[in-house]
Amino acid sequence: VLHNTIQELKGNIRVFARLRPMLPTEGANSDGIDDIPHFAWYDGNVLELDKAMDGDPNETMSGLKRTTSQKVEFNFDRVFAPSSSQAEVFEEIAQLVQSALDGYNVCIFAYGQTGSGKTHTMEGDMEGTPEHRGMIPRAVEQIFCTAEKLKTKGWEYKITASFLEIYNESLRDLLDSKQDKKMDIKLKDGRSSKDNKTNDVYVSNQVVVDVNSEAEVYPLLKKANKHRAVAATKCNDRSSRSHSVFQLTIKGENHLTSESCSGVLNLIDLAGSEQVKKSGSQGKQLQEAQNINKSLSNLSLVITALSNKDSYIPYRNSKLTHLLQNSLGGNSKTLMFVNVSPQEEHLGESINSLRFATTVN
Ligand code: ADP
Ligand code: MG
Repeated sequence: VLHNTIQELKGNIRVFARLRPMLPTEGANSDGIDDIPHFAWYDGNVLELDKAMDGDPNETMSGLKRTTSQKVEFNFDRVFAPSSSQAEVFEEIAQLVQSALDGYNVCIFAYGQTGSGKTHTMEGDMEGTPEHRGMIPRAVEQIFCTAEKLKTKGWEYKITASFLEIYNESLRDLLDSKQDKKMDIKLKDGRSSKDNKTNDVYVSNQVVVDVNSEAEVYPLLKKANKHRAVAATKCNDRSSRSHSVFQLTIKGENHLTSESCSGVLNLIDLAGSEQVKKSGSQGKQLQEAQNINKSLSNLSLVITALSNKDSYIPYRNSKLTHLLQNSLGGNSKTLMFVNVSPQEEHLGESINSLRFATTVN
């Protein structure tokens, strides 16, 4: 029995691993793009890496299965091979996305080192051919398509979109034209809010846009990308060191049955999880790295505390979990993609990522 196993369908938390293909720039030959790297083996639920390929075979692998040949096995709810298409991946999350229309709060994260395929998974190529579109545009399409169908059953939905970035534990509004605005997370007074939720979280001065169709969302995604790109030139590679949170809030009312519901769909492209070498980095870079470590490890603490049904959940120890407080726990569903690079030189980081993912079961 493996003790690092993520049991299938445990609570409302799922973890999917996605191994990306080798890129042409990494020496993939044109017909070998779908190949599984020689140090990895997978089936539908298991991803196995050959630790012996990673330099130091004597490193202790606490909590992980170790076989004589140094193979490390990780179990997931689903493992996607390099050949898996965006459509195949979306198919596995379509139901989860849909549940935001039924009043659930849904969080979908992409976790992994820089270059492992997080942004490809979440956004994909939004300008190019439709088949390369990632989870965000597909989710948006599905939400509006289903909302349209549900009209015949009396449902009328009001949908809003927002897009934030968390960089160095501070928030930035990717939809605001004034990019240097200070923002803060506030807690709503539960007694005064009309849906009677306690500790509702909101962000002060946030741009929240009413969206009536899929087509109205794309300009927002473009605008957010433009703002991220501008910031990235000021601070080299900033986007890999920030979390981006795209949020759709969905309020439904049924004029036939008088039912109502309210859900949120959060799609989060996390900061790169790579360990920064302690020597060599200092000042701002070190502080950035510490903030990333802190927020990623706090995310895992929060998810673990929720699945253990702990009475205290440390939401407020990082901006990310604080921002997502309403959408993690309670009436909520969480999915984490752990993105993995097929490059041998990244094997150590890949093992770290997979190990992280197994702690959030
Ligand atoms: P990250 O956001 O984790 O830093 P990216 O999503 O930018 O990584 O991916 C790094 C590179 O790999 C990009 O050029 C991206 O287009 C490519 N890539 C990632 N995943 C895939 C995939 N499943 N199929 C094809 N190309 C991919
Ligand atoms: Mg990225």
